[in-house]
Amino acid sequence: MQAATFRFYEELNDFLPLERRKAEFRCGFKGRESVKDRIEALGVPHTEVDLILVNGVSVDFGYILQDRDRVSVYPVFESLDIHDVTHLRDLPLRETRFIADVNIGDIVKYMRALGLDVYCNPTLSPREIIRISREEKRTILTKSRKLLKHRDVIRGIFIRPGTTVEQIRGIIDFLSLRGGMALFSRCLACNSSLVRVTKESVFDRVPPKARAFHEDYSYCSGCDRIYWQGSHFARIQKVVDEILAQ
Ligand SMILES: [Zn+2]
Repeated sequence: MQAATFRFYEELNDFLPLERRKAEFRCGFKGRESVKDRIEALGVPHTEVDLILVNGVSVDFGYILQDRDRVSVYPVFESLDIHDVTHLRDLPLRETRFIADVNIGDIVKYMRALGLDVYCNPTLSPREIIRISREEKRTILTKSRKLLKHRDVIRGIFIRPGTTVEQIRGIIDFLSLRGGMALFSRCLACNSSLVRVTKESVFDRVPPKARAFHEDYSYCSGCDRIYWQGSHFARIQKVVDEILAQ
């Protein structure tokens, strides 16, 4: 039986059983097997992987494992200088458009509050989510490892257990999105971009109490909603501040 030595780095260890975390381990394989298939068989979705080195040389997912290979598997780097090695994709892991799987909770609303483009339609099947992700270059946000392991998935992020704030921080740090976001520029309900409107133009549609206290209004042409910085806004602002706190 042939065998290769594997070592997974940083948060990729979350997918491994305890005894395999942050340590080299040997793994047998039979016949021709790609490094991608073996990594997924070990429990790590390929969408979490940004760089694979075999015996110190960068390879792509299709690389066929050889006996006694030493395989190092890395997630997205944040600061290490790796300009002389080949990433598995042309930066699409830093793509900032998303499609949400069903059941990821409040993440969608608060990511939209950050100004991020998150498409979400609860009636979509996993197959439709994958199709739209490919066609529109959207990164899938999901709690399903099974979905991320599908061979047609190119971009995806596994939502780890935690609070909504922790989960969104995980996503924006993973993709280094801090700093590039236009807060409150998107409709929380339908994801359309908001446009600034004058108070006069929405006067009839805003409750008198809001009119008395607020001058700035935005309008969503996608779902005909009007936004202003009322008490509901203050609650969302508080969560946004928490997400962005260093
Ligand atoms: Zn809307």
